[in-house]
Amino acid sequence: MEEIRILIIEDEKPIADILKYDLSGEGYRVDCAYTGARGMLAVEEFRPHLVLLDWMLPDISGVDLLKYVTEGYHIPVIMLTARGTIEDKVYGMSCGADDYITKPFDLREVNIRIQAVLRRLGRVLEKEKKELFRMQDVLIHAGERTAILEGRRVELTPKEFDLLLWLVRHPRQVFTRARLLDTVWGYDVEGDTRTVDIHIQRLRKKLHVEEAIVTVHGVGYKYVPEKA
Ligand code: CA
Repeated sequence: MEEIRILIIEDEKPIADILKYDLSGEGYRVDCAYTGARGMLAVEEFRPHLVLLDWMLPDISGVDLLKYVTEGYHIPVIMLTARGTIEDKVYGMSCGADDYITKPFDLREVNIRIQAVLRRLGRVLEKEKKELFRMQDVLIHAGERTAILEGRRVELTPKEFDLLLWLVRHPRQVFTRARLLDTVWGYDVEGDTRTVDIHIQRLRKKLHVEEAIVTVHGVGYKYVPEKA
């Protein structure tokens, strides 16, 4: 089995190190570079499948490095940045970033974004391949991205499946619509939280899990597993 290599280019050492620690625990092989120059060398030597790139580095601009990695090596990049405005996101994406994570970030969110980018490349961790959940009568296979109800595969859109997977991986936790939007859709737009409601309704209807996905009034949603 080939290991999936992730390179972190980030001058704030504590952030780089916690990411490395967390992602290593997830089963990735991880290398850190604390300057842009070291990062360029590491891209060549480490040959990562994915780069997490800090937008603000002391020696090289994030945009220049982004272009170096994406145009020179065709490696997908997730930008890490303290800036959170829509303009910066759009700019980063237009420069070729695959995704964008705003600091301070939640490590679980970083994980889900990484998985989404890797999945687009057809790369899935061995661990995820074997991940299996049950929500009431539905069997959910993370690696195959299938939901089986009464022996039949239920057609779900990619976002419906991502939302389902997020909920089933985090039982009993309440998530706000804004949080789900940011986590599953990767953006946080005021007033667009209706999208979440529509997807939740579709999941409940398609999978017959009305009781499992609970509305927490005035807050959001949570997944409540059946008591054994
Ligand atoms: Ca920085």
